[in-house]
Amino acid sequence: MTAADLRSWVASANDPASDFPLQNLPFGRFRQHGDWRIAVAIGDQVLDLRAAGLIDHGDMQHLMAQPAQARRSLRQALVDGLTLGSPQQAQFQAALHAQAEVELGLPCEIGDYTDFYTSIHHATTIGKQLRPDNPLLPNYKWVPIGYHGRASSIVPSGTPFHRPHGQTKAPDQAAPTLGPSRKLDYELELGLVIGQPNPLGQPIRMDSAEEHVFGVALFNDWSARDVQGWEYQPLGPFLAKNFASTLSPWVVTLEALEPFREPHVRPEGDPLPLNYLLSPANRARGAINIELEVWIQTAQMQAAGQAGDRLSQSNYRDAYWTVAQLVAHHTVNGCNLRAGDLFGTGTLSGPRPEQGGSLMELSAGGKQPITLSNGETRSYLEDGDTVILRAYCERAGYRRIGFGECRGTVLPAREL
Ligand code: CA
Repeated sequence: MTAADLRSWVASANDPASDFPLQNLPFGRFRQHGDWRIAVAIGDQVLDLRAAGLIDHGDMQHLMAQPAQARRSLRQALVDGLTLGSPQQAQFQAALHAQAEVELGLPCEIGDYTDFYTSIHHATTIGKQLRPDNPLLPNYKWVPIGYHGRASSIVPSGTPFHRPHGQTKAPDQAAPTLGPSRKLDYELELGLVIGQPNPLGQPIRMDSAEEHVFGVALFNDWSARDVQGWEYQPLGPFLAKNFASTLSPWVVTLEALEPFREPHVRPEGDPLPLNYLLSPANRARGAINIELEVWIQTAQMQAAGQAGDRLSQSNYRDAYWTVAQLVAHHTVNGCNLRAGDLFGTGTLSGPRPEQGGSLMELSAGGKQPITLSNGETRSYLEDGDTVILRAYCERAGYRRIGFGECRGTVLPAREL
């Protein structure tokens, strides 16, 4: 664990408000003119790992596929070189760029993408809207529910996208129609980026599951609720989810999250999961205390120079299934994971109604529009809305670390 009082010669990293102190060092990719280059964020700078002499390639998949021990050695070399008084300061200094002056992309090429449903609060609230008498399906407390999504439409933070067209049918319509979604929503999620792969046919057990996870990023799984409502039975989400999903540029490693681990406790009376989803370490430290926030900046707010409103706050520690359980379940049948695969956690809503991680929850399916600070109201997203996800970890005696932001703007639907 990187000591809380360790300071960097990169002055901006020592600002208590910085998301990226020496104790964080999240990985990502940047470019100025040519190819993508691998970097860590430090204060308001990015450190080019190749230029600093720490790696000899620009292949993030290759870096992520290394065994966890190699990753930890690289982290130690980064901490050593960036610490105040390091003899490598001059060498590293030449590899720094201002974050504001480079383009940040997806942290890696995304391979396969799986989206889970790990918040029991989200599952229950959504279930109540769809099935008032039977909100939580009987498999929920036994199976980490997920579906295979689509990687091609995962875009880097800052990428605007057009409101999608789709097939919808209101209950009182005889037949569906095609048109722009009228119930466009965001989903507050974390993205778990897979590192070390497993061979086909070899399940990953709970006690080594986290060795296969490179780190955690912010993820907004934009969703067209009206399209989803018509298409989702019987095989689950399809075109309601694959027109855009936004991933933040920085992947915070599990090493950096170490101080923020907490016991993972099931609510009293809930069944214990099957053995392949249990481990002493998971019970002792399976949860991660990550504070999550959703912000909205409407076009009107932007024009008025307002930063936006915070729509909700929740915490990843409230997830029903842990990182290790998702990996163990995904591979129990022998499914092989590869470096750069992405797991969405599913919408991370908290236990209280105001902690909903989507507008569908906050506006009760559109029945109770929310009022913003400038008097505007929202049931679902309007054209020109920008949604910003943020996250950070705080604990007494440890340095606060942050995830940066995950941002996307809704543009009007294109003409068909
Ligand atoms: Ca989702």
